[in-house]
Amino acid sequence: MKFYKRLYTKKINIGNVTIGGGLPIVVQSMTNTDSRDYKATIKQIKQLEDVGCEIVRISIPDMESAYNINIIKKNINIPLVADIHFNYKIALETIKQGIDKIRINPGNIGSETDIGILAKEAKKAHIPIRIGINAGSLKEFHSFIDTRSRAEVVANTAIKYVEILEKYNFEDIVVSLKTSNIYTTIQAYNFFSFKKKYPLHLGITESGTIFSGTIKSAAGLGIILYNGIGDTLRVSLTANPIEEVKVAYYLLQSMGLRHFGIEIISCPTCSRCQVDLIKMASKFEEKIATIKNLKHLKKNIKVAIMGCSVNGIGEANDADFGIICKRNIGILFRCGKIIGKVKTEKLIQKLIFIIMNYINTNEN
Ligand code: SF4
Repeated sequence: MKFYKRLYTKKINIGNVTIGGGLPIVVQSMTNTDSRDYKATIKQIKQLEDVGCEIVRISIPDMESAYNINIIKKNINIPLVADIHFNYKIALETIKQGIDKIRINPGNIGSETDIGILAKEAKKAHIPIRIGINAGSLKEFHSFIDTRSRAEVVANTAIKYVEILEKYNFEDIVVSLKTSNIYTTIQAYNFFSFKKKYPLHLGITESGTIFSGTIKSAAGLGIILYNGIGDTLRVSLTANPIEEVKVAYYLLQSMGLRHFGIEIISCPTCSRCQVDLIKMASKFEEKIATIKNLKHLKKNIKVAIMGCSVNGIGEANDADFGIICKRNIGILFRCGKIIGKVKTEKLIQKLIFIIMNYINTNEN
């Protein structure tokens, strides 16, 4: 069931990926290797590709990093975005090296003339530019304390820089309006969406560690997505960027916005539960995480892992597959019907076997 309406935005190509125009929301992440070390950076991007990252951003703090774009691009399969601060000339070099998109921070990138030069070169190379607002670098932002005024500063700054690019006939624009406050960020995206129809990259910046950042990002991004806003998304975490991709998947999948394979429904357990269900559900999650290409499934497969037969099938009626775990013997079910009984210690193994059998028969 869809309970939102995606807002229409302009379609933009980033390398071989198209965003906007109501297309599925694309998952992004960012490397945290030293970008002067191209081998380490390529290795990390390959790891991100393996978990399904669809666009990757890389910090380019100096010319040495910019010169590495070419070799990095030759060794990866997903579009590469250069993150540029302070010096537009570094951005010009990344264009020469074959970058797929440039992110600039209006708070520090330089004069309007510099932006004009960059827009001209990006246009020639058919490369989009992201106006990536970081509230922390906007002086005016700090002169207000209420979320509404702050959100307006963020959105209006983005609009100002969008209009500078438009003045140079540049319209391959993506915008992000990140702050570390959920309410400011939500309102900034709302304000901007009323005024301009360029694709929006979503994020709650500096959101925290895997635990706190996941919750904060899900709370904020969930509301923005519910409002129909968003074309690409990064969950910023103080963690290995692989975790950002995993969380982004789960968030989009939970909201029914993308299908990334297997969705787990597991009960919270209670005194009726006779097995270590927490361990069993974690084991299942770990095992399926090692199966490649699940994100290419045509539809999500819902799998229920339930702790007792009293409410088991009933509580997981929507599940495609499921198990009800009892002390010695567990029950396997498929779309609400029992299909077998198996020793509890073999239950997870059997469940995975049945699911893989189904995937191999129906998806190939
Ligand atoms: S499915 Fe059974 S064990 Fe799990 S929470 Fe519900 S009643 Fe308790």
